[in-house]
Amino acid sequence: HVKATKPSGAAIFDDRLRSIALSELELTNAMREAVGRDQFELYYQPIVELHTNEVIAYEALLRWHLQGRMVSPAEFIGLAESTDLIVEIGEWVLDSACAQLARWRRQQSTLRIAVNVSGRQLRGGGLLDTVKAALERNDLPGSALWLELTETALIEDHLSAREVLRELVALGVTICIDDFGTGYSALGNFQKFPIEIVKIDKSFIDAIDRDAHKVVLTSAIEALSRALGLATVAEGVETTEQEAQVRAIGCRYAQGWYFGRPVPAAAVVGGLALATPEC
Ligand code: C2E
Ligand code: MG
Ligand code: MG
Ligand code: MG
Repeated sequence: HVKATKPSGAAIFDDRLRSIALSELELTNAMREAVGRDQFELYYQPIVELHTNEVIAYEALLRWHLQGRMVSPAEFIGLAESTDLIVEIGEWVLDSACAQLARWRRQQSTLRIAVNVSGRQLRGGGLLDTVKAALERNDLPGSALWLELTETALIEDHLSAREVLRELVALGVTICIDDFGTGYSALGNFQKFPIEIVKIDKSFIDAIDRDAHKVVLTSAIEALSRALGLATVAEGVETTEQEAQVRAIGCRYAQGWYFGRPVPAAAVVGGLALATPEC
């Protein structure tokens, strides 16, 4: 699982974007214009409540259509962060995701949207206003929104982060730790943050059907989360065996190809009705 949390633009460019024949500067400029040129698109992946088998939320995942290719966020989020373009892109993501959710909520009024937020956005100071604006413009309550932050994003400059998160929570927004277990922090560190959901990283789930050690670790994260009053999402569930394991371990939510891959908004519509027969 590729994760660009501490970007050095050059390294990311060299490693991942070789197939795009642009210099880093040209790429940065292309990224600066991508919003205006309508080159970004959000894909949506279901998050399922295991107890009911219901899709309770979709995670919005960014895609960039560039030079006839679809570039994944692992390839450009690092550069977007190191150039601060992530702030503007992040505003587009939040507003687009909320607009899409508002349309879906006409059919399924309790559906929520999970949006990834980088540490840069949190530290930039504008996140609270961006979130408020996106919610208001799309006539959504704060409770419709989950924000996913990585451990690193929270640890960096934790004092101002804590303040911003408190205000977001006051709006009704749910804060999630994304990719939990990949950093160096313990869950106890997060008690000072108003976190409600822990997303257990895919690297734990990957071998959970054949590696007893991974079962022990995932169970421990789930038990500790539960004791702290936090719900867990098992990330990257791909097989029946993995699904059975995370169910047995007691994770409240799960997400992964087993339940559905990230797809464009238009491809979700059918899935909504299926997921909520009562609506
Ligand atoms: P993430 O937030 O941890 O998202 C989960 C990633 O795992 C997604 O990759 C998703 O497509 C992939 N995935 C989900 N289920 C499975 C599975 O069962 N098997 C496998 N092999 N993969 C699975 P994606 O879409 O490439 O996104 C990568 C990362 O980029 C995200 O990781 C997130 O950190 C970041 N990202 C995506 N969209 C945004 C955004 O709008 N803003 C920011 N700041 N970061 C974003
Ligand atoms: Mg995420
Ligand atoms: Mg994740
Ligand atoms: Mg992950």
